[in-house]
Amino acid sequence: SEHFIATKKRLRYVRVNTLMISKEDLISTLVTDGFIELPKTNSYDEFLALIAECTARIEVKEYFVQDYHLDDVLVFLQNTNFHDYAPYTNGSIFLQDKASCFPTHLLSPPPNSVVFDTCAAPGNKTLHLAAYMKNQGNIICVKQECLSQRPFPELVAMLNCWSRPGIEVQPPDSKSNTLTPEVLRKVYAVDKDPKRFKYMKEVVELAQGSDVVETIFSDIFEIKMAGYSDVEYVLVDPSCSGTGISERAKIDNHREVSSGRLKNLSGFQKDLLGRVCTYFPRVKRIVYCTCSVREEENEQVVEEIVKKFGAKFEVEDLKQHPALREWTHFGNEKYENGAKCFYALPSDYCTGFFAAVLVRRDDGDTIDS
Ligand code: SAM
Repeated sequence: SEHFIATKKRLRYVRVNTLMISKEDLISTLVTDGFIELPKTNSYDEFLALIAECTARIEVKEYFVQDYHLDDVLVFLQNTNFHDYAPYTNGSIFLQDKASCFPTHLLSPPPNSVVFDTCAAPGNKTLHLAAYMKNQGNIICVKQECLSQRPFPELVAMLNCWSRPGIEVQPPDSKSNTLTPEVLRKVYAVDKDPKRFKYMKEVVELAQGSDVVETIFSDIFEIKMAGYSDVEYVLVDPSCSGTGISERAKIDNHREVSSGRLKNLSGFQKDLLGRVCTYFPRVKRIVYCTCSVREEENEQVVEEIVKKFGAKFEVEDLKQHPALREWTHFGNEKYENGAKCFYALPSDYCTGFFAAVLVRRDDGDTIDS
């Protein structure tokens, strides 16, 4: 089927960790270090053709281009080696498949929002969310009892020393009595696997995400959602069969996943998504994604959730999403909402990946867990 169309030409994607470096500064660093930036192309075929043309003329191997869908992604040839490269070892860049960079852009939490990442380790998408939110200007709320009585220039100087580029400072709250700036925007990142959780905590520190990210070691089913009543944006990236990744590695060899395993996985995925739809009182937007190419874990999960929660949530038509204007792969039309869902496939030069966005129809309620 279309899902298993192979492509031998492979690319490597680099996500810029804008918590640490701007895309422009990273590009300057790359160029200084001998990489060559090619003009932005309209397709990867054009990018590969340009490289072929260049390598015929000069002896340089390291080329890159800015991605034409996502503005925080750069594209390299797959054999580009970053393992000892400082921006990689210091957390300024992430080697993250392009497909898995879409969920953050699809969730697109605006300034001041609070995000819950239900299955977060090793933290790639958590950190991407943190970067996405900071880029839009963090809000720091400054509180001090007598601030308003201080001379105005002194007040401005104090606020300025707390602010960083891209951070907006709110006027002081005259009733409170602490001088600590408080970051209001937050990404809660939950995982239950001890090793993966430990790794995620380390990476969050390394990548300077800890200002915004709060890591929580727990089974998501044990969490009292009502304690997170301020959450409006949720990412659901559950354990899955990983068939999108294995298809990429063994592209012509459709690896079997037993029907029992698929049933267990899709049961877990439906329970989890259903829990998110039920218990976060103010959730507005949910991204559900997997690195699976199986309908049982993708369209069928979405279909069942819409059947149960259709009065509360609808599936957003991702064909209309600004980042997906020229995208070619969407879900199977035999499902009512299938065609509104995103697929990335090897023929997009990506791992197999699925994403759906559920949008709240009303203004929220107050159900407790
Ligand atoms: N979002 C991650 C990223 O982008 O780096 C990848 C998440 S991975 C696909 C799925 C994660 O879900 C695994 O780390 C697994 O430990 C976690 N997980 C599975 N069941 C869970 C549960 N019941 N509660 C919390 N985490 C769970």
